[in-house]
Amino acid sequence: MIPEVVKIFLLQNKEKQGYFCLQLSDDLTVKQIYGKPQQLGLTQPYIDENILNILPGFLPEMYKEEFEIPFYNLNENNVCNIYFINESGDKLLIFVDKSEIFQVTQKYQQFAHEDNISKNKFKRIAQELEQAKQSLKKSNQEKATLIAMLSHELGTPLTSILGYCELLLEKDKDNHNLKTIHRNSVYLQHLIENTLLFGKTEVGSMATQIETVDVSDFLASLVDTILPAALEKDIFISSQSCQESSINIDVTRTKQILINLLNNAIKYSNYGSVVISCNITCDHYEFLVSDTGIGIDEEQKQAIFNPWERVNKNDGKGSGIGLFISQKLANAIGGQLRLKESTKNIGSVFQLVLPASKVTINQVDENLSLASGLQGKTLLVIDDDQDVLDLIEAFLEKTQLNTICALSFLDAQSILLKTNVDLVLTDLNVGTTLAPTFLEELRNNNNNISVVLMSAMPSKQIKNQFIENGFKEVMSKPFNYNKLLSTIITHI
Ligand code: ADP
Repeated sequence: MIPEVVKIFLLQNKEKQGYFCLQLSDDLTVKQIYGKPQQLGLTQPYIDENILNILPGFLPEMYKEEFEIPFYNLNENNVCNIYFINESGDKLLIFVDKSEIFQVTQKYQQFAHEDNISKNKFKRIAQELEQAKQSLKKSNQEKATLIAMLSHELGTPLTSILGYCELLLEKDKDNHNLKTIHRNSVYLQHLIENTLLFGKTEVGSMATQIETVDVSDFLASLVDTILPAALEKDIFISSQSCQESSINIDVTRTKQILINLLNNAIKYSNYGSVVISCNITCDHYEFLVSDTGIGIDEEQKQAIFNPWERVNKNDGKGSGIGLFISQKLANAIGGQLRLKESTKNIGSVFQLVLPASKVTINQVDENLSLASGLQGKTLLVIDDDQDVLDLIEAFLEKTQLNTICALSFLDAQSILLKTNVDLVLTDLNVGTTLAPTFLEELRNNNNNISVVLMSAMPSKQIKNQFIENGFKEVMSKPFNYNKLLSTIITHI
């Protein structure tokens, strides 16, 4: 029978688990055993066995006073609270089983430890993601700068090519070769502009430029551009337009989208024909590009508009970015681009729907009539590229504007001291000096003449910064006769 004193002790200490008790003599040998020590994994002690053998880590001095040892490891599997009480001369050693609680606690500790590891892991992944984001941002910025610089480098010679081509065309309007160079140069010019816009992710906020074009001419010019590729694959290409009519569209963007669709139609056809058509209603224009090509699987129909998405990843035919950009461009000019229908091995039809815009004034005619007002005025053009200077001079030959050219800011300053100039047109980099430095010097000398900047970096942000610096306008390179004239008329 377990002594009453032990039961009371356990009650007071709120101990409810299994237990056993050893009663010790004064010489610390076992006098009595209550309960079953084996249940706690302890070898059954025998009477008169010294307690120091049973609990070897305990010194004899410990038994001079009552003590309590929580969570004592009896062996690998069993843990117990040990209480030593000395009740009216009875030395009682009580073992209360704590194995289960200990295991649960251990599990909690394990969880907590794992949780900590997970948290640290999560922290590390978050840090790695942040680093990746930063390096991506940096490389994106570098890419944008590279695109801006490239477009500058491409834009400058293109201005000369385009300009001289326009001049030659004036003398020989029907020269097919010149017309082809001109058409492709214009296309290249717009491509550079759009690449820049896309690089800066400004596609969504792109300003549209609506022009009036004859629909048959427009479609025919697209067919003309794509004809060599079609001929190479022996594919018949044609255009169809129901009405003979003019349409008001953003020619550059629409052309870019349709050329992309036509290129794809040829790329993904092995034989047959490609047709581009336009249906006109009072509120929209519907362009259809149909082919007799390989077609697209049902599951792929939406995915093809995702960036880098390609049906046959290894056919070496493209990058998977064309439809993505085209759809963005279509949305930016208020339209919709979609795959209207496609059947495997039969062909596909892509549809571009654009809103019908209002007719705009023919700016060329307007500018020409305004150009008469330039008589007696003087323009100073500064550029270290003699080709550009020659071109601007040639452009302005038929106006009555007095044009003076300078190859450096130093020359320009001495011209400004001697001559009454009405407007200055300058390149951004002239020699090793930047136009803002030149402008600052002018203002320091109390010269308030209007200065227009020519630059091939037409990002909105940079433009605004130059305007804040005091330039009247930033004219994007490459420019054409019409743009040059309208800029001069506005600021002179
Ligand atoms: P790319 O042609 O450079 O791969 P696109 O974005 O223009 O990129 O097209 C995405 C994918 O859509 C192509 O890889 C091709 O699998 C599919 N596709 C586009 N146009 C056609 C078409 N006319 N016929 C069949 N598949 C097409």
